[in-house]
Amino acid sequence: MDYKLAWNGRYLIAVPPQNTSWTCPACEYVLAENRQTQADFYCVGCGFEENADLVGAINILRVGHARCV
Ligand SMILES: [Zn+2]
Repeated sequence: MDYKLAWNGRYLIAVPPQNTSWTCPACEYVLAENRQTQADFYCVGCGFEENADLVGAINILRVGHARCV
């Protein structure tokens, strides 16, 4: 995957998965209780609600961007 991305002028950033499914993308509150079910995310800190897979993707993207700078 890394080789194919480099071929197309892109690159791969490995992101450790710790807390990416428990962190609120709105207020960055980290708590296992934020993950209400496998599919649903609800932040007990600020009330942010979203699909849990989308929240995980947002958090992974955020960590990846932070490693670029
Ligand atoms: Zn929150």
